[in-house]
Amino acid sequence: MISPRRVLVLAPHTDDAELGCGGTMARWIDEGADISIAVFSTAEKSLPPGSKRYRLRDECHQALDELKVPETNRFIYEYPVRELGYHRQEVLEQMIVLARDVDPEVILVPSGADLHQDHEVVYRESLRAFRHLTIMGYEMPWNHITFSTHAFVVLTEEHLHRKWAALTKYVSQIEVARPYFRYEAIEAMARVRGLQVKTDFAEAYELIRMKL
Ligand SMILES: [Zn+2]
Repeated sequence: MISPRRVLVLAPHTDDAELGCGGTMARWIDEGADISIAVFSTAEKSLPPGSKRYRLRDECHQALDELKVPETNRFIYEYPVRELGYHRQEVLEQMIVLARDVDPEVILVPSGADLHQDHEVVYRESLRAFRHLTIMGYEMPWNHITFSTHAFVVLTEEHLHRKWAALTKYVSQIEVARPYFRYEAIEAMARVRGLQVKTDFAEAYELIRMKL
């Protein structure tokens, strides 16, 4: 059972981390881990019309407050959504700075099966920057054709509720009725992944690299 001390979560956009691994973040923070997060785009073009420019960044801070990620551990960049592919080298260089400054043991990143163009960039560049470390790919089923469930982080109902409480801070995404921003969907996923490992709730990961 891994209970890492320093974890870096890589999120292409605000909300990816909470959706993919919010329960794991809640659990590992409870267990005393130092969790840092890097968000590469505040996805302003995905906001409902009439929204304030930094609405998603503000919502992200509220969600991370809920999960108790310290403010000093939040690195939020402003690359344009769906255009990370034009900024690959800068994304890689940011990761290399994070590797030095955060000195993580475990990296959580979108999985290699994720089809979103920005998620693919963050996955691919993370392999370059962190290939000497344990890397786990989190699950976002709406972006996959296949997903290999190599690893599981077991959650309590309280971890699941904290994940959902963090997600409810993304009012802009609930307003545009994203189908995965529903408690039923988040709970159903956690229950299915729990069933696979004989427990009530879990989050599943593609194991990209393991360093014990
Ligand atoms: Zn995303």
